[in-house]
Order: sequence, then C-alpha cells, then structure tokens
Amino acid sequence: MRFDGATIFVTGGAGFIGSAVIRHLLRDTGARIVNIDKLTYAANLASLPGATENPRYAFEQQCICEAEPLRKLFETYQPDAVMNLAAESHVDRSIDGPADFIQTNIVGTFTLLQEALRHWRSLSPARRARFRFLHISTDEVFGSLGAEGLFTETTSYAPNSPYSASKASSDHLVRAWRETYELPTLVTNCSNNYGPYHFPEKLIPHMIIKGLAEEPLPVYGDGQNVRDWLFVEDHAKALALVLERGIIGETYNVGGRNERTNLHIVENICDLLDEEVPSSEGARRRLISFVKDRPGHDRRYAIDASKLEGELGWRAEENLETGLAKTVRWYCENRPWWTAILDRGYQKVRLGTG
Ligand code: NAD
Repeated sequence: MRFDGATIFVTGGAGFIGSAVIRHLLRDTGARIVNIDKLTYAANLASLPGATENPRYAFEQQCICEAEPLRKLFETYQPDAVMNLAAESHVDRSIDGPADFIQTNIVGTFTLLQEALRHWRSLSPARRARFRFLHISTDEVFGSLGAEGLFTETTSYAPNSPYSASKASSDHLVRAWRETYELPTLVTNCSNNYGPYHFPEKLIPHMIIKGLAEEPLPVYGDGQNVRDWLFVEDHAKALALVLERGIIGETYNVGGRNERTNLHIVENICDLLDEEVPSSEGARRRLISFVKDRPGHDRRYAIDASKLEGELGWRAEENLETGLAKTVRWYCENRPWWTAILDRGYQKVRLGTG
C-alpha cells in the first residue's frame, strides 16, 4: 500500500484542504498521520470524522511559529515527510489585518523549515534520501492575468494582496532551503479550491448558506473576475502524488481547467439550490446583488497543470458542474457542520473593503 509505515506531518490538517488531505491519506494509503494545527477560527476537527478512532492518526495542537515544541514533535514522531498547509488563507482578512499572515505564512514556514532541516540532518542516509518537505501554495502568487494565457511553473511571481505576498515569501524560503541546505523540498501552486467542509467565509459556501437563508447574494464588482476552480478532493490526491513521485526541487501547478466568472458560479449555485430546496419566493437568482469591488481584486487566474498531468499522471476527476452539484448537496445534507460554525459566533459580514 502507498506510504505503508511512513509517518507524515500534515500542518493545518484541521483546515479545509488539510482535512481533505488527511481524509484521503487515511482512507487510501497506509500512512500514519500527525495533524499539527493551532486551531484558529478556520479550523474544525469535525471535518475529520472517524479520525480520532484511527490508530494511524494523532492530533497535536501546535502553532508552527514555535520552534521548541515543534522540535519535540519531530523528535517524538520521527516523520518521513512534512506537508505544510498551515496558513492564514482568506484574502479579505489579509486586507484588514495582514500581521497574522506575515507571522504564520512567513515566520511559521521559516520555523518549520528550520526544524525540518534539523530533523533531516539527524536521519540515517537511507531515511534522509526518502524524506520530503512539500509546501502547499497558491496560484495567487503569480498575480493577475489578462483575457488570455495561463500561469505555468515558470511564470514570474507578482503577488497583489497581503495574503499572496506572504505565500510568495514562503515559497521563496522553501526554495532557498533546498538550494542552500539541500533540504528535499517541493512546492505546489494550486488554483481556487471548493467542496465539502469549506469555511463559510469563502465565496462558494458563503453563497450556498446565504441562498438557503434567502438572503441577498453579494457579488464583488461586476462579477466578471475569473477563477480556475478545483474540487478539493482532486487537490488532495494531487498533493499525495507529488509527495510520492514529485522530483525534489520542482514546483507543480495544480488546477482543474475550470475557468468561470464569479457571477457564473453564483448563478449556478442559485439554480442548484432551486433544485435541491425549492423556494416559495421564486428563483434564487433574484437574490444576486452587486457590491463594491475588493481592493486589488485580481481579474483572472488560470492554471496550466500539464506538467503534473504529463509527468505524474494526475487528472482532475470532477469538472465544475459535477463538483459544484456535489458541494451544494453536501451543504444541504450537512447543516449541523456549518450551523455549528455560525452558532460559535461567525458573522456572515463583509470583510476586506480596505
Ligand atoms: P484554511 O484556512 O481552511 O486552514 C488553515 C489551517 O491552518 C487551519 O486549520 C488553521 O487552524 C491552521 N493554522 C493557521 N495558522 C496556524 C499556525 N500558526 N500554526 C498551525 N496551524 C495553523 O486554509 P485552506 O483553504 O485549507 O488552505 C490550506 C493551504 O492551501 C494554505 O497554505 C493555502 O494558502 C493553500 N491554498 C488554498 C487554496 C484554496 O482555494 N483554499 C488554493 C491554493 C492553495
């Protein structure tokens, strides 16, 4: 079985993508998982049903900015790999309060790299040769595209938000630890993810939850900003594949070839909700309203994932239509998961207007 007997640190494993990675690794591989998560507002251990009963799973509440406790975790668990997904991830929050983004995304990645390097140097030559540090990043580091073209692995970095600038910095640190200290690192840059267990502040769950409540659906600007959407479980599988077969020092773009405008996404959600839970008030598209745009809002992102597809044989299994239908159905059928977040005091209010 893949990763049989290997111990993998997954940082940020209580978040949206990290939890999908852990669900995939526990279900489809023989890996032992140590979930290292600070449990910020974005974390939810309820996104890992059944994990605590699994003998191949351990949870450690820990901030990646704290070197000494991290060192103890490396000494205790002796991992064969690190997948770094711990991050502050919401662009609008980074506009209102960039400090946490600088701290976790840059200082946290630096601290984790230092402790991973110390651990790697302590390993036997055979285990050192197998060790991997996979850093998970975003296509937002490349900035914004015009109407044409795709981001490739050689596109220059041009981040525009405090979030993407902090992720770009962390990507550079990871590269430098490979070039300078020979730590076996890899980086992935992925497009927008969506799917089950997504925190309600992100576009797709936000619109589903507001649509179910018959509340206005606020679309930024003219709604014509384009994102390239990837179902989160396809991302999780891509990350496991890169960890297993990726070439040290390389970066891999991950994307679903599913470019859509934000307005198209919201209209589609309205139509799917109308099918799942018809409203006596009429079609939900009537709820769409246009609001002031996000400052520095990138116009278009689109990913060329042909390196990952050609070299490692990855393929996205869901397209936007199948993935969005699954997602809308999941939110309709799993209300306790997201109503618990609303009950904890999360307000569905607009952030990041600058
Ligand atoms: P998320 O916000 O849902 O989860 C982040 C997790 O990290 C949370 O569980 C949080 O508690 C944890 N965390 C935050 N600060 C921490 C710290 N200092 N120490 C330990 N844990 C900490 O984020 P996500 O959407 O799952 O994104 C995961 C990674 O993937 C991020 O690095 C993000 O930049 C990247 N990414 C996200 C997307 C996307 O569309 N969501 C796309 C491409 C790349």
